[in-house]
Amino acid sequence: MSIKAVRGMHDLYGEELRRWSAVEKKMRAVCEAFGYSEIRTPALEQVEVFKQTVGDDTDIVQKQMYLVANQEATEKLVLRPEGTASFIRAVIEHGLHQSGQPQRFYYNMPMFRYERPQKGRQRQFHQLGVELILDPTPEADAEVIALLDHLFRSLGLRNFEARINAIGCADCRPAYKKALVDYLRPRLSQLCPLCQSRFERSPMRVLDCKNESCQAVIKDAPTISSSLCDACKTHHAQVLKRLKELKLTFIEDPKIVRGLDYYNRTAFEFLSSSLGAQSALGGGGRYDGLSSRFGEKPFPAIGWAVGIERVLIALEQEGLLPKLDPVNDVYFAALGQQALDLLIPISISLKKQGVPVHLLYEADKSLKSHLKSADKLGAQFTVVLGENELAQKKVLLKNMRTSEQEMIDLSNLESTLKGKVKRAD
Ligand code: AMP
Repeated sequence: MSIKAVRGMHDLYGEELRRWSAVEKKMRAVCEAFGYSEIRTPALEQVEVFKQTVGDDTDIVQKQMYLVANQEATEKLVLRPEGTASFIRAVIEHGLHQSGQPQRFYYNMPMFRYERPQKGRQRQFHQLGVELILDPTPEADAEVIALLDHLFRSLGLRNFEARINAIGCADCRPAYKKALVDYLRPRLSQLCPLCQSRFERSPMRVLDCKNESCQAVIKDAPTISSSLCDACKTHHAQVLKRLKELKLTFIEDPKIVRGLDYYNRTAFEFLSSSLGAQSALGGGGRYDGLSSRFGEKPFPAIGWAVGIERVLIALEQEGLLPKLDPVNDVYFAALGQQALDLLIPISISLKKQGVPVHLLYEADKSLKSHLKSADKLGAQFTVVLGENELAQKKVLLKNMRTSEQEMIDLSNLESTLKGKVKRAD
């Protein structure tokens, strides 16, 4: 077939999807234990949601957005490239920021970015993220960072490190930007073309450019720590103090600036050595001013997002993929039409009670091939109903793990299996 899934977007099914679900379930449980409740926003947003917020000069807005139009082209929409701007749009739309109390949310949603696909980088990918609004304290920063650290640890991941930076605020960042521009200007010819074009408007973005020659220039660039205002300095010191109290290990890294315009004060990334070139498992920061870009009064907010694909790659690399139980715990082998007629209602009744039963609607398959199928499906029990069993109104129940078998009354089949097989959630 020549029609294929869109490049950089993947179908998920079978074992892979079951592993995803198991990992997602754990991650949701961690977020909920920390008091975060789920929010889902539409995949499509008005273009302005991102243009006004993420920054005109960012890769996301300049080249990665999937623009979508309806047939009459009356609306200009975009497939959400990230979660935070949509989240704040929803918060303001529903007045959630007027509660006066800190509020905690998490999301688990697909994102869309037109990027060059490679391992760990897709055009449709999935992010789990948290957002904590209306809490300006450094303790809130420490909480979300500790939550992210715990999230990875609870999955068993160990080969990662947290990198944390303070990126200043509207008061102190202009002075730093000027110092950086002054440093970069005489070295302009050594920067990559992209950094050359944006160094005046977004000099801090040069700091996290992956290009080797840019990295060489940046090595000796001034860092923001000397330009921070007193309030930012105190905030940052308190975040680090809290993290140390929580026994979190982290590295202070002046190069972590995050790519987007809306961050202030705390910025962080978690990098994994299990990931190869795309080494970021997740990242985030404080974004107290984002709401003002929607014309609202600014209110404090902080959050992060992790890439679920990358978490799964790291888990696989570290041999930590969750073990899966077989889907079909019970296999019914109906030998003949009469057996099939009897087993159909019993199988449906068991399924309704949460006992996964596999029954082929086929009456003339041999016992040997039934047993082969049961094995292939990883069934825990096989129930055989053939002529002999029918004559005695019994079935043969075989434990496929121990090979033990017993004859039980057909009338007791349901209750016996209910007792033996753990019900699906
Ligand atoms: P960002 O907001 O770009 O920092 O993204 C947060 C996290 O999402 C990253 O640390 C990655 O784990 C993941 N991520 C970002 N872009 C992609 C992509 N194109 N494909 C897969 N995962 C991604």
